[in-house]
Amino acid sequence: MEKKQFKAESQRLLEMMINSIYTHQEIFLREILSNASDALDKLAYTALTDDRVGINRSDLGITIAVDKEARTITVSDNGIGMSRSELEENLGTIAKSGSLGFKKTMEKQEDIDIIGQFGVGFYSAFMVAGSVKVISRKYGEDTAWQWESDGTDGYTITAAAKAAPGTDIIMKIKDDSEDNDYSQFLKEYRIRELVRKYSDYIRYPIQMEVEKSRKKPESPEDKPEYETYREMETLNSMVPLWQRPKKDVTEEEYETFYREKFFDYTKPLRTIHTSVEGMVSFKALLYIPGKAPYDYYTKDYKKGLQLYSSGVMIMEHCEDLLPEHFRFVRGIVDSQDLSLNISREMLQHNRQLTVIARNIEKKIKSELLSMLENDRAAYEEFFAAFGRQLKYGTVDGYGANKDKTADLLLFFSHKENKLVTLKEYVAAMPEGQEKIYYIPGENKEHMGKLPQVQALSRKGYDVLLCTEDVDEFIPQTLITWEEKSFCNAASEDLGLQTEEEKKALEEKQEALQGKLDFIKNALGERVKQVRLSADLGEHPVNLAPEEGMSFEMEKYMKRMNPDMAFNLGRILELNADNAAVQALLDAVTADPVKAADYAKVLYSQAVLTAGLALEDPAEYTALICRLITGY
Ligand code: ADP
Repeated sequence: MEKKQFKAESQRLLEMMINSIYTHQEIFLREILSNASDALDKLAYTALTDDRVGINRSDLGITIAVDKEARTITVSDNGIGMSRSELEENLGTIAKSGSLGFKKTMEKQEDIDIIGQFGVGFYSAFMVAGSVKVISRKYGEDTAWQWESDGTDGYTITAAAKAAPGTDIIMKIKDDSEDNDYSQFLKEYRIRELVRKYSDYIRYPIQMEVEKSRKKPESPEDKPEYETYREMETLNSMVPLWQRPKKDVTEEEYETFYREKFFDYTKPLRTIHTSVEGMVSFKALLYIPGKAPYDYYTKDYKKGLQLYSSGVMIMEHCEDLLPEHFRFVRGIVDSQDLSLNISREMLQHNRQLTVIARNIEKKIKSELLSMLENDRAAYEEFFAAFGRQLKYGTVDGYGANKDKTADLLLFFSHKENKLVTLKEYVAAMPEGQEKIYYIPGENKEHMGKLPQVQALSRKGYDVLLCTEDVDEFIPQTLITWEEKSFCNAASEDLGLQTEEEKKALEEKQEALQGKLDFIKNALGERVKQVRLSADLGEHPVNLAPEEGMSFEMEKYMKRMNPDMAFNLGRILELNADNAAVQALLDAVTADPVKAADYAKVLYSQAVLTAGLALEDPAEYTALICRLITGY
């Protein structure tokens, strides 16, 4: 018997693929099943165009048979089959793709779509099989042929016997090795799982004989005995949910599907089911989850939508379909305009995919906006889970996507005591308020008591209380919102004083300059400057940062990169109208030793109020004790 060599390029491709392209061996079954489905499509098409072919679509199907002893999986179809020369052509050369040739001849025919313009699918069987036999009989011919190969060493073709047209693919599963459990593919549950996972929606039944158990008919009701029996079962559900018209799918079906498919037991907040016809046609079923998966904000979380081409899953997490800022969305996209591709790289440059992705992004955005406007409670639940993602999305890439996300952000309003959008904040601004005020901090309750927040509140101005690290970067990224600039109340001038008030304060400061210098000297390196402030209300002191950055940012930097971190220059602000400050100023002339201690105590109060740690807690304790016990 003559053994034929694979064509050179096939040989190379084959080795490459067996070793690398497919990272997941389990997809071999998907490939073989989708070939079988194609073969059935071809026969169904022939029947459609030729009256003499007496075939009913309902007679067409695929079976899977497992022989554990012989370690074989056999996938059989009663489709178009292959002649001797087709076996040679199709399976001997990788580059030649039968489906592609066939597709060209029937481009216009809409009912039929054949996946797989890349002729490598079949060879994926060699990732799990040491040898593969293909017994095929072409529809309309009397003879059958057997093609056999171990995948590396060429193939043989011999005459064979086969009662009916169609193809059997017999894969001899490899023996287990140290790092490969090939035997898993001989297990019934595993095959069932793979069919459900990858080929559930192939539109022909995929059947397998499975073991079942039933009550023995003659056994008594109160003490039933059971027996096992074997029965053919259809493993796939055949009609994908997303292919059905929206009006025929119940809320419950959408939810059940979501739970089973994405292993999330909480109800999704929104379901988007859409069908787009156009340059690129596709159907999408998308879900906005109500809860972030436990690994959502870690590297383990895999973003992406499941990508199907005509009912066959070709990628589990197609990242390119989702923009980073909407990476929480789960779902499925099915387009017959895409082909069963072999690698991510190829998909990435696929223009159809870009069109779909853009369309999907718009759909998600409008769904979120509608939730924000019409169902605030649901939106807040969503925001609690994924708001941080939207914030990252806003600042990411120097705000490259800020226009798509900023209107979806919520911030905590001090005045309203609830979450508001920037739009709502600006709409509620009273006459005379020019800026959008926000303040970073850790604890909303404490932040509400800060002198800056109280000063703004007295004017009737709202302040956004920002408690997440990323918050402070948002105003820096947006710069303005509806032409209003942002003001960080913790580090910038609040701009509340009139010109006269400013002048009055300056004059007061000049008059007290000598005393302020004394205080600065007493505090030494700890502060860069001591000055008066008119914004402090009830508070005696405040600590302001010298550079335009806030102390929250200083803390953030220290956490992120301790080696590079630095301290901002500290400015001590005094409220000249406060009794304690008055006592300090009086003491400067009356009792300088005591005045120096007062200055240190008040400075320490300012440090604590700003949410910072004391530089030297022991010194502070000694200081307080000295003041209590006398000198
Ligand atoms: P692709 O399916 O991407 O074209 P494959 O390597 O999987 O590439 O298959 C090569 C060709 O072999 C197919 O195009 C088809 O013509 C033929 N083929 C494979 N499996 C079958 C089958 N079960 N029945 C009929 N023809 C088949």
